[in-house]
Amino acid sequence: TLAKPAHKRILLKLSGEALMGDDQFGINRATIVRMVEEIADITRLGVEVAVVIGGGNIFRGVAGGSVGMDRATADYMGMLATVMNALALADAMDKQGLTARVMSAIGIEQVVEPYVRPKALQYLEEGKVVVFAAGTGNPFFTTDTAAALRGAEIGAELVLKATKVDGVYTADPAKDPTATRYSQLTFDEAITRNLGIMDATAFALCRDQRLPIRVFSIVKPGALKRVVMGEDEGTLVYA
Ligand code: UDP
Repeated sequence: TLAKPAHKRILLKLSGEALMGDDQFGINRATIVRMVEEIADITRLGVEVAVVIGGGNIFRGVAGGSVGMDRATADYMGMLATVMNALALADAMDKQGLTARVMSAIGIEQVVEPYVRPKALQYLEEGKVVVFAAGTGNPFFTTDTAAALRGAEIGAELVLKATKVDGVYTADPAKDPTATRYSQLTFDEAITRNLGIMDATAFALCRDQRLPIRVFSIVKPGALKRVVMGEDEGTLVYA
């Protein structure tokens, strides 16, 4: 008998940096293709997948090139950067045999369709991968918050926060060899231990909605699949 996935619908948060691979900025094609293969694997299990994509590989509103710029203007640039990443990701998905739909929180109709919740739900039910672009559509927020928001809106069972490390550790595993991975934690424990898992707004939203977060490695082959199969992979943060 075939094992059934533990989750029906998930919201995957990919940072812009995740698309860079080992490059310093921009989009690394091989990296994106590898990531899409992992996503294709779980859609074949019947899992409905929505993605919120970041933009930090192209532009970050709060730092770098934006110094001296009006914060809101810089943030709009950051949101537009996520649209570029979303287009690249959806293109790679389509080439990999998935059907992807990009929905933007900012009106940019000639490029991608606007975010309309019932439409997103319909696409997911049809087995399409929905890529949410432009974050929340508001400056002063992040794509982590967009992940929490869209995750709650679409009734995702889990927010998957993809990182380079395979979970949350007691200390930085790159610096401290005695660091151990938390298999699971409550939101309150994460706050008490000051483990910066997502920004505070995103974290508060997930906590209020009792929407669990799983931190896992997107660079570890098969990790995404193990997560949706309910295996002990990464770190689960729950209410
Ligand atoms: N951003 C924003 N509102 C949002 C989401 C993103 O203003 O709802 C801007 C913000 O400037 C941010 C940039 O877009 O720095 C890129 O998003 P983020 O830093 O979350 O991307 P990631 O770190 O995941 O690559």
